[in-house]
Amino acid sequence: MQNIHFDNITIDKIDDAVYDKENIAVSVLRLDKIHPVISGNKWFKLRYYLEEAKAVNKKNILTFGGAWSNHIIATAAVCKTNGYTSTGIIRGEEPAELSPALMMAKEMGMNLVFISREDYSNKIIPEQFINEEYFIISEGGYGFKGAEGAATIADFFKKENYTHICCAAGTGTMTAGLALACGTQNKIVAISVLKNNLEIEKQVCLLLPDKKPNLEIIHDYHFGGYAKLKPELIQFMNMLYNKTSVPSDFIYTGKLFYGINDLILKNYFHSGSKLLLIHSGGLQGNASLRKGTLIF
Ligand SMILES: *Cc1c(COP(=O)(O)O)cnc(C)c1O
Repeated sequence: MQNIHFDNITIDKIDDAVYDKENIAVSVLRLDKIHPVISGNKWFKLRYYLEEAKAVNKKNILTFGGAWSNHIIATAAVCKTNGYTSTGIIRGEEPAELSPALMMAKEMGMNLVFISREDYSNKIIPEQFINEEYFIISEGGYGFKGAEGAATIADFFKKENYTHICCAAGTGTMTAGLALACGTQNKIVAISVLKNNLEIEKQVCLLLPDKKPNLEIIHDYHFGGYAKLKPELIQFMNMLYNKTSVPSDFIYTGKLFYGINDLILKNYFHSGSKLLLIHSGGLQGNASLRKGTLIF
């Protein structure tokens, strides 16, 4: 895989007097630094699908996403740098003006195909794409290969150094991957960024052999739903950056950092806990915010 800079990954400690007082250590695994576009968890989720496509000699990758999807951008970028063609089945009618994410995907050569929300939710693929040439990856890279790929995120930290591994969850594929990698050694705490997506527990467990994983999915920090926000989220992201120089995005990692901070204040974690927060990238998502909203 070209252009992915694993050497850039660091583990940054977050210093905070309140965390010290509670005797909680907080660090961040900076997967956002591996690539400006294929950032964070997306490359990890895609890696084994691409290997499989190669093994079965398929050069055309087809996948699904909404107008703000980081998975769509990452798939477009990965395909471009590795000699695959990419097709994105996009939820909803073609807008007059493409979102920044779709614009980026298109610039990287992805063939964007818009289908109605109804067809999308019924998983109806336009007929011309139902043939053997296409290798299909489901929305968000959800599936066993996605989870196995996400499990390799754990190669970049020492499990014994932490009690909890915390991440943002969309489809839950990364959450499942971390649970696969960590077993019972670490508790996985995932902040779901969708509103009341109570299906996610089931979706995560479907990807795990252990049906009682050491993990909890928290549903209290979606700020109104997927890609929704409130002023206090933006304020928190700016404050975090000011204090630590760690940038975050308002769709995923901002909600993760906010949620974990709030859980610490509410004594969710016992004294002596050592937390590793997965910075899963996604910073390009901030391009849809009005200029000047964020200080970074
Ligand atoms: C896609 C994404 C996630 C969610 O990953 P899932 O495996 O779908 O739960 C988290 N963070 C960022 C930055 C993402 O782009």
